[in-house]
Amino acid sequence: MTFNNLGLIEPILRAVEEKGYSTPSPIQLATIPVVLEGKDLMASAQTGTGKTAAFVLPMLQQLNGRQRVQGGRARVLIITPTRELAAQIQANIQTYGKHLNVSSAVVFGGVNVNPQIKQLRRGVDILVATPGRLLDLFQQKAIRFDSIEALVLDEADRMLDMGFIPDIRRIQSLLPKNKQSLLFSATFSDEIRKLARTMLHQPAEIDVAPRNTTVERIRQRIHPVDKSRKTQLLSHLIRENQWVQVLVFSRTKHGANRLVKELGKANIRAVAIHGNKSQAQRTRALADFKHGKVDVMVATDIAARGIDIVQLPHVINFDLPNVPEDYVHRIGRTGRAGNEGEAISLVSADETKQLRDIERLIKRNLERQEVEGFEPGHQLPASRPVGLEKKSRNNRKPEAHGKWGTKSGYRNRGNQADPKPRSKKTGVAPAWNASENQRAVS
Ligand code: AMP
Repeated sequence: MTFNNLGLIEPILRAVEEKGYSTPSPIQLATIPVVLEGKDLMASAQTGTGKTAAFVLPMLQQLNGRQRVQGGRARVLIITPTRELAAQIQANIQTYGKHLNVSSAVVFGGVNVNPQIKQLRRGVDILVATPGRLLDLFQQKAIRFDSIEALVLDEADRMLDMGFIPDIRRIQSLLPKNKQSLLFSATFSDEIRKLARTMLHQPAEIDVAPRNTTVERIRQRIHPVDKSRKTQLLSHLIRENQWVQVLVFSRTKHGANRLVKELGKANIRAVAIHGNKSQAQRTRALADFKHGKVDVMVATDIAARGIDIVQLPHVINFDLPNVPEDYVHRIGRTGRAGNEGEAISLVSADETKQLRDIERLIKRNLERQEVEGFEPGHQLPASRPVGLEKKSRNNRKPEAHGKWGTKSGYRNRGNQADPKPRSKKTGVAPAWNASENQRAVS
């Protein structure tokens, strides 16, 4: 299957080709025709699956050749939880829309509002925004919503995590009723489904569901180590293996700062990215990391969400996340777009519970490997064989990325925001497989 079969116009196909993409990802295959038909949809896909192009390409097409929008207005509104994601979506719009005459702007908090107000004065076809700043701009009358024809809500589950749902509901109440709405989320909890029911009209439901493939494709192992020796072990691993472009996860902002300092003392160039950093600092950190000026980026879970760095070879969990699903999100930053990756966790004895929760979630025990010279004084208890454990109610399959161009399953339940039946055991609606070249129609 190529992009040519999706009903996209030539200037968009050309831009996609120039970007070097030949095969649409499963989410793109399933989503693009549905959006072009003007339908609402809810799609389950996380960062790394190619979901941005899945909504940007058809939206650009819908806007192509239209008359200029009036000042202070937008036609398509894309709402996303983080500044980084907003900036990346805008970059995608520019890349894929470079042969079209479609205008766009991005607005997010943490930076001066005045240039954004000025930009909106002329009106834009596509406005990409984070929720808080969008509401600010609305209150300041810098933007009116009466020309909105389509709404894209990106990463709805993260919006929920970050407390944005009341803002989303408020924005939604201000938008015209008659519009196309798309909702993307990595997971569909009851709360997200509730939101979907109020937002979407007879949505096509798309679930690109190669749920276990991240876990399968990424080489994962843990190094048991005493807590007090983790930094030393990390420096040792980086030096010994001559790693560059290492993404290290830290549970706390403070821990991230401390680690950067300590790595610096060991002459390892590192930078931290977390919620206490200003937008300018984050942008610089990301650029330095992407351009190889620093070798290590230490990130907290929230800050890392949505960062688009393709083909990261190594992801290190300096500590394990408290929420096991975050482990799957973290390791999903490697092995993206079909590449192999390596995820290593430094685990101390006090993290036994977190480790057990993760192994239960991914339904496998992680390979353990002690590093010579760093054998722990406080031993990690042996893992329980996960297959033999009693099924817990939270024993859900991890959401994960698939290798593009291979078979993937997606679900399209059309006309139902809350499909039944749900599996009683897992609380997750059963998915069925469909070949990638089957089109999603409702
Ligand atoms: P996303 O899930 O939208 O964050 O995309 C993940 C990464 O995959 C981004 O770097 C995209 O530029 C890239 N990408 C998107 N679509 C394709 C495609 N069809 N083939 C290869 N790479 C892609």
